[in-house]
This record gives sequence, C-alpha cells and structure tokens, in this order.
Amino acid sequence: MSERIFNFSAGPAVLPEKVLRQAQQDVWNIADSGIGVMEHSHRGKVFDKVATEAVADCRSLANIPDNYHVLFLQGGASSQFFMIPMNLLKEGQTADYLNTGSWSKKAIKEAKLFGNVNVASTSEDANFNYIPTGDKVNLSDDARYVHFTSNNTIAGTEYATEPDVPAGRPLIVDASSDIFSRPIDVQKYGMIYCGAQKNLGPSGVTLVIIHDDLVQQGREDLPTMLQYRTHTKAGSMYNTPPTMGIYMIGQVFKWIQEYGGLEAMAEYNQDKAEVIYDFLDSSEFYRGTAEHDSRSLMNITFRGPNEDLEKEFIAGALAKGLSGLKGHRSVGGMRASIYNAFPKAGCVALVEYMKEFEMANKGVAAV
Ligand SMILES: *Cc1c(COP(=O)(O)O)cnc(C)c1O
Repeated sequence: MSERIFNFSAGPAVLPEKVLRQAQQDVWNIADSGIGVMEHSHRGKVFDKVATEAVADCRSLANIPDNYHVLFLQGGASSQFFMIPMNLLKEGQTADYLNTGSWSKKAIKEAKLFGNVNVASTSEDANFNYIPTGDKVNLSDDARYVHFTSNNTIAGTEYATEPDVPAGRPLIVDASSDIFSRPIDVQKYGMIYCGAQKNLGPSGVTLVIIHDDLVQQGREDLPTMLQYRTHTKAGSMYNTPPTMGIYMIGQVFKWIQEYGGLEAMAEYNQDKAEVIYDFLDSSEFYRGTAEHDSRSLMNITFRGPNEDLEKEFIAGALAKGLSGLKGHRSVGGMRASIYNAFPKAGCVALVEYMKEFEMANKGVAAV
C-alpha cells in the first residue's frame, strides 16, 4: 500500500502528516548538522535545542506557571501509577482515587502497595459507561492527593471538567488520552501525566507536568531514577532520555501551536466528534455505549446489532481504508479514536461507511 489510510487506532495513534514529513528529513540530517536527530548526543548543542524548545513550547501551549516542572520520562503512564504513590503516599496515609475504568483500576492497584486507597467514586456498576459527579463522589477529609483519569480510552468516557477538590489538595490526572486536546487549567493540578502515544507523539515518552511542592515533598529514600527530584534537577537528562520521542513531541507541540493552540484544537475535536455522534444519535442500527453527558471526544465507542455484524463491519471498514476500529475486548463492538492529529475527513468517511453498512444490513439485523 503506497498511500496512507485513516487510522482510528487507540494508541500508538495517528501523527500529523506535517510532523511525519519533517521527521523524515530530520532523521537523515537535522538542522544542517549532517547528523540525524536520533544520532545526536543528548548532551550536544543540536539536541539541547530540540529539548529546550519542546519544554518551552509545552509551557506556552498550556500556560504552565514557573512553579511547575515539565519532564520527559520513560516507563509510560503505567510507571506513573506506582511512581506517584511511591513518592507521595506514606504508610498509613490515604489517597482518593476516582475509578472510571481499566486505567484507573490499574492506578489503584499500584497505590495500594504504598498506602490506603479510598475509591471516592466508581462507575464499575455500569461497565464504566459514565463519569460519576456531584454527590456520587465521596472524597476523604485527609487525602494526600486525589487521582483521576480524565479520558477513559477503553470505555469512551471523558470528564467534562476537572473534579472539584478542597483547596490545597493536590489533584493528579492521568491525561494519557486527552492531553492537549483542549485547554487545561494547570494551576488546578498538582500533577498532570500521560504516555505520549495517543495525542502527542510516539510511544516511549511520558510527559509529566508537576508542581514543585510535590517534587520537594517526595520521598528521598527511593532509587535515584524513581524520584521526581532527580529528573527536575537534571532537566530530564539524568540518564539518556528518549531523544527521538522528545523530538517528535516537540514537533507536535509546534503543530498544535500553528493550528491555533489548545482552544482551536478543542474546537476542531468537538467538530470531529459531532460528525460521528450526530449520526450515532440518529441511527437505530448502531448504539453508542457511553452515557451522553459523559461521552469522550477522543474515543467514540459503539456497538452494532450483533457480534457477527460487528465483525463484518470492522473487516469491511478496513477494506475501505478505515483501520483500527475494533473496540477493546472489555466493551466489545467498535471504537473510533480520533485524537488531535486525526483528520475530520476520516470522521466523514467513517459515517459514510456506517450509513452504507446499515443500508446493506438493516434487513439482516431485523431477522
Ligand atoms: C494508554 C493509556 C495508559 C497506558 O499508557 P502506557 O504509556 O502504555 O503505560 C494509561 N492511561 C490511559 C488513560 C491510557 O489511555
């Protein structure tokens, strides 16, 4: 296949075409240095510029105040699941966790290794098809921090706004699948983290935006690599960082900036999701799995009339150049992941295909 197709993969996911084309050049020879970006020392001038710009662009995109650090770590969001409680939660202390799906559950499991976990809300009773809010959230009085998952990649739900927490209580978010898909008020958070491979770049880089207080309060009797202060002191270069990934994220930041920043990105994402949701709402053949007021703008999860037709739908989609639509096994059916870099034309093409498939199979489904 010589042409690119529409990639609805949940992650690693589609990257902006402009970024990929620039990367093709820079892998060969970056900044007229005669050396490709992956072949430069992380301590040399050329890569230093790449990394410095990536941090600066991240800061300006999200208006990150000076008392927060921007780190590029490794080990994925999954390593933050343990690194957070390991650093911040002393034995006997409690952390509040909002349980909205598989990723929240994994974070909870790790936190229990280090302290008490109060599951302050959960939608597990309904296979995580909604976001509990208001009086469904029971925070403890003395939690060390509150942790939530802003977008639930598997269940297809997303917090409309960040949950309310008492003043001074650090709010920590796993924003792996909706980071920079919309504006984010960094000052409301103690820490924001994500694996880069959904909205920001390739796999292998974990972006951490962390308030200096949390860095300072972290335990000091941990392995060097597992303390946040190690990485803030060394500007993410205590050891060799994932240089190619940082380069790619930096390029994606520039691409978002050129697009108009997070406000413009949010409008585009809203627009894209509406193309699909509007059709879903009008159809009796397909059924969205998430509650309306909890629906994700990033991962659109839906079912067909039965599993055989779902299989046919997914195979037929691929034949039309629509890839990656199989839903996660815990939800079944289909999932269209339409992160920042996913083009609106792909959403339109998906709806066209959904209509065609419905027309061709309506009768079959009714029998
Ligand atoms: C994909 C995902 C993860 C896992 O990220 P890794 O970088 O693979 O560890 C964690 N949380 C959410 C919300 C995700 O979507």
